[in-house]
Amino acid sequence: MNVLVVNAGSSSLKYQLFDTANNVVVAKGLCERIGINGESTIGAISHTNLLNKKEYKAELPMANHTVATKYVVDALLHAEYGCVKSMAEIEAVGHRIVHGGAYFSESVLLNDDVLAKLELCRDLAPLHTPAHIQGIQGCLEVMPDTPQVLVFDTAFHQTMAPEAYMYGISYDLYEKYALRRYGFHGTSHRYVAGEMLKILGKTEGTKIVTCHLGNGSSISAIKDGKVMDTTMGFTPLAGVLMGTRCGDMDPAVVPFIMSKENMTPDEVNAYLNKKCGLLGVSGVSSDCRDVTAAIEAGNERAKLAMNMLGYQIKKYIGSYTAAMGGLDAIVFTAGIGENTASIRELACQDLEYLGVEFDKEANNSVARPVKTTCLSKDGSRVKVYIIPTNEELVIASDTEKLVKTLQK
Ligand code: ADP
Repeated sequence: MNVLVVNAGSSSLKYQLFDTANNVVVAKGLCERIGINGESTIGAISHTNLLNKKEYKAELPMANHTVATKYVVDALLHAEYGCVKSMAEIEAVGHRIVHGGAYFSESVLLNDDVLAKLELCRDLAPLHTPAHIQGIQGCLEVMPDTPQVLVFDTAFHQTMAPEAYMYGISYDLYEKYALRRYGFHGTSHRYVAGEMLKILGKTEGTKIVTCHLGNGSSISAIKDGKVMDTTMGFTPLAGVLMGTRCGDMDPAVVPFIMSKENMTPDEVNAYLNKKCGLLGVSGVSSDCRDVTAAIEAGNERAKLAMNMLGYQIKKYIGSYTAAMGGLDAIVFTAGIGENTASIRELACQDLEYLGVEFDKEANNSVARPVKTTCLSKDGSRVKVYIIPTNEELVIASDTEKLVKTLQK
């Protein structure tokens, strides 16, 4: 089945056309600057046919996501750089949705009830939800007969028990605002945990820690194949230090900064999301590659930032091992998890007491392009793996599965 995987942001729309029968992405692209100047907006589309390697770039009027979706379909159908002959060959659309609140614990086929529930998630993800809804509306208008599926970043984490997802605030505010831990990157954690379970050869009784370390990072405790706990919270700001996000700290720091720096709630939120993390501590960059290069040039603050990240990951591995009552495997994935040996080493060193025998040599000589790679020594009781994530594959296969139920 050809599934169009859509990731709609406030002014962007990323897409991939996925051929599920052959497990390949046949085309991908990005529309940018959608609607930034209202009706007179000129946006940009860049599209690549990955089969014939033909590319197409254009600047076009792009007032909203509906217009952008129309360009995407035009590009996919184009005689030269397109990859399908008719609209009917785009058999389904799968949308990546950042926040499904407590309403969605799995992927769903779009209908009026689903759209109404997604509307209720606006407060939980005020930047993302309106963009997702626009992306969905765009597809509904341009491809009214094509079934659509929503795949949520939060869904996989819905198995957490209340003691894991509740905050120690008064219960009335939890009830009033649905203030609790939700967790994010669920599609990625689900994919790499599933791959790790295949390697372990069983699900029941397994205890895995999955580390999705990218620009945004989160770590999950996965017991019996289900999420027991995860580091991100009500928003993606919680957990370990990230590219530009601060991660966990004493909540009293927030009102302190607001009062001392004269910041509004929006300003402090932007500061904690955009100016902190690797960037804020190192003063160099949010990009792990730049921070690593700065360390090599002797920059002490860059070293501090990376040491903080490694230490925090290790702390979560330890606390999640305690929560699960044991550990069978640690998985690293996403940009940093797949590519940055020093962080993996910092996170796994001195964990022999847990049964982790980390193979430094294997860690320092991971082949490229990165594939699933074992980083623990033969006989290590706890397995350590890099497993490259593939969120689009999960979105495409969930979409296919649900759309096939319509065809029965
Ligand atoms: P996002 O959360 O934006 O999807 P990624 O998963 O792409 O982020 O991760 C981005 C991070 O991965 C950056 O800090 C980057 O430095 C790091 N990284 C390290 N090495 C590489 C590499 N070879 N290719 C891509 N990213 C890398």
